[in-house]
Amino acid sequence: MPGRLIVLSNRIPTEGPPSGGLVVALHELLAERGGLWIGAASDFADEPSETFQPVAGEERYEKATFDLTEDEHADYYLGYANSVLWPLCHHRTDLLAMERRYADGYRAVNARVARMLAQIVGPEDRIWVHDYHFLPLALELRRLGVAARVGMFLHIPFPAAADISALTESDEFYQWFAAFDLVGLQTEADVARCLDAYRRHPSGEMLLDGRVKLDGSIFKVRSFPIGIDGKTFADIAKTPPAHDPVHIRADARLILGVDRLDYSKGIPHRFRGFSTYLARRDPCSPRATLLQITPPSRESVMAYQEITRELEALSGRINGQYGEIDWTPIRFVVRSVPRETLVPLYRMASVGLVTPLADGMNLVAKEFVAAQDPDDPGVLVLSRGAGAAEQMTDALIVNPYDAEDVGDAIEKGLTMPLEERRSRHAALMEVVRNTDIFEWGNRFIDALGAVKKPAAQMRET
Ligand code: ADP
Repeated sequence: MPGRLIVLSNRIPTEGPPSGGLVVALHELLAERGGLWIGAASDFADEPSETFQPVAGEERYEKATFDLTEDEHADYYLGYANSVLWPLCHHRTDLLAMERRYADGYRAVNARVARMLAQIVGPEDRIWVHDYHFLPLALELRRLGVAARVGMFLHIPFPAAADISALTESDEFYQWFAAFDLVGLQTEADVARCLDAYRRHPSGEMLLDGRVKLDGSIFKVRSFPIGIDGKTFADIAKTPPAHDPVHIRADARLILGVDRLDYSKGIPHRFRGFSTYLARRDPCSPRATLLQITPPSRESVMAYQEITRELEALSGRINGQYGEIDWTPIRFVVRSVPRETLVPLYRMASVGLVTPLADGMNLVAKEFVAAQDPDDPGVLVLSRGAGAAEQMTDALIVNPYDAEDVGDAIEKGLTMPLEERRSRHAALMEVVRNTDIFEWGNRFIDALGAVKKPAAQMRET
């Protein structure tokens, strides 16, 4: 009898209907297949518990949470996950916050979650682990003798070998991934970096069937580019908004940036690129306003506190230099907006500026394309540092560090003839359709089911 699906992710919808692309997709997959979804509880506990807490609900699958104390949250989540692994994987080793207690807290939480899982998992179950919060999980499960299939999908970039060596725990980092049966990454470039890193490792070995061996562990690594629920987006885009979501002057074109307030998103570089465009712009050509919508994020992590100040100063300077009595070139809004407002904004924009320095995939790029009017679409300017650039080759691909390159692409996007906009949009829409998030989930789960069981692997070694 086939086992059940167990999904582990940091966030889990505990109240109300699920929202957000990934959460909705996991919800639907579990509703279809049945199973159990485990995530972190939203309230802190006084003492860590050794059992999952069931979450009551009407769904066709079960939900449970593991709790965290405030100290664990500080060390495991804010510390190791978001102040070590996040900068590491986004090529910002200069921002690594090395504190021994972070790594200890991270290992301890993962070991505790693994102990709880080991009590409930059956040999035929498939455990699908999401993201950098749980890298040690499979290794901990194997230590407890769990032989079920365990897969990891890493939503963020896989780091280069040179960056991994900046980590005190670099050797463990290799062992953590190797203990999974299947490692899913966003792009072929991520897969290449992963294989390269294991090739360079003294104990790493490439097997003839393409799998990777490290000491006694064998794992498969493959790309599974994530997507969006494109149909829902296109449907919302077709519905006219109840009110004009943004009062942009009729003679100003809209350039849109939508990103979490994160240093990996390259927002200061983007502002400088826009400034280059403004400096070169023909004064007779139509004005363009850059609307940057940015929900705050991880505010208690130090590296995040400086970005707001930097962006306020930069936008103030650019507006002072180029603004006119009736025109503000940059509108910088630090808040989250509902999807019903975001989608019409995507559709109104002449240019979508998606210029992260490094990004696992970047779903905003796909959402922007899905929301366009195919008869009169806006132009996507996309960083080559985004995973999405591997697939979305019909966007205007830019180097986000090069302000002149970004400035040129803005100019090109604003003046692109209708025919070219249509043909580029049609090609990009094909990519969005081919990477629908529901198919993505099914592909990963099926691939995990198809890998050889770990017990069989061990005999081969
Ligand atoms: P990341 O996961 O690093 O934040 P992605 O681009 O992959 O980057 O996903 C971001 C998600 O957050 C998208 O679904 C996008 O619609 C949403 N989002 C980004 N900015 C805002 C905002 N200001 N308000 C509401 N949602 C936002």
